[in-house]
Amino acid sequence: MRIKIKIRCKQCGERFTLRGKKDRGRIETGFKQCLCDNRDQFEIEEEGMATGIQLN
Ligand SMILES: [Zn+2]
Repeated sequence: MRIKIKIRCKQCGERFTLRGKKDRGRIETGFKQCLCDNRDQFEIEEEGMATGIQLN
C-alpha cells in the first residue's frame, strides 16, 4: 500500500513530504535523518487516510 507521509523535525522544524509504503502497520519511507542530524525526534503524519470512505 503506497501512502504519502509528512515528516516534521522537532529539532529544527524542517518539513519533508515523502512517499512511503505501509506494511502491516509499519511505515517505510527510507527516511533516515534530518539535515540537522536529528534521527529520533519527528512528528509523522500520514496523508490521505480518509480516501475511499464515503458517507451517503
Ligand atoms: Zn532537523
